[in-house]
Amino acid sequence: LASRIFKPEPTVVEVGDIKIGGNNIVIMAGPCAVESREQLFESAMAVKKAGAQFLRGGAFKPRTSPYSFQGLEEEGLKMLQEAKQLTGLKIVTEVMDIHSVELVVQYADVLQIGARNMQNFPLLKAVGKINKPVLLKRGISATLEEWLSAAEYILSEGNKDVILCERGIRTFETYTRNTLDLSAVPAIKKLSHLPIIVDPSHGTGKWHLVGPMAKAAIAAGADGLIIEVHPDPKNALSDGAQSLTPENFEVLCQDIKSIAKVI
Ligand code: PEP
Ligand code: MN
Repeated sequence: LASRIFKPEPTVVEVGDIKIGGNNIVIMAGPCAVESREQLFESAMAVKKAGAQFLRGGAFKPRTSPYSFQGLEEEGLKMLQEAKQLTGLKIVTEVMDIHSVELVVQYADVLQIGARNMQNFPLLKAVGKINKPVLLKRGISATLEEWLSAAEYILSEGNKDVILCERGIRTFETYTRNTLDLSAVPAIKKLSHLPIIVDPSHGTGKWHLVGPMAKAAIAAGADGLIIEVHPDPKNALSDGAQSLTPENFEVLCQDIKSIAKVI
């Protein structure tokens, strides 16, 4: 079902009046984690002003260490809902396990499946049964075939609205957090009709690499970007090192618009 052979024309996922795929470019941005009402609203207003259509922010966080901030859970989802009412931005947020699908689906416009859960087959089946789009991140060591197979789990349950997200893979390189595989963008476009966006924040782990890779992603044909933005990156509870300030994000959005015009 994910294959171009099965469906030659590109899938366009519609979220209200926003179209993801086809000839559209979507920008999703916001903090790694929802930390507080103030932090979220400040981020939301900044990304809205810069031109993003979606607010991102995790209420359930898959942290490497159990001692790191784990997220505000339902309280965080409620803040996302308030930020949506305040700004009109759509919400993309992660669902980590089958038990919280029912809760997250009430607040999210798009449900994110994180890299660590790309092969959580019960979770893929569960989001395959909902009527909201799913953002499926590439697993840390997943091949394109494994990734498309994961998408197939969602599609085969009846949910046709799957958006893929390249977020870097684990290689021998340690300077960057992951190695952003931008060749995945044109490769996926050849193999599949599904839209694909790029996450240069997790893909690099360093804020100064986010802009160049975001621009390269658009030049490579990505249908959009998901970028971490924090009003005070130094004091972020997660992923501060890869988060853009609102000012830097605004400059990047201008650059993206000019690139999108020429390609
Ligand atoms: C995130 O988006 O904050 C996140 C945890 O991403 P990934 O699953 O790609 O690591
Ligand atoms: Mn993050």
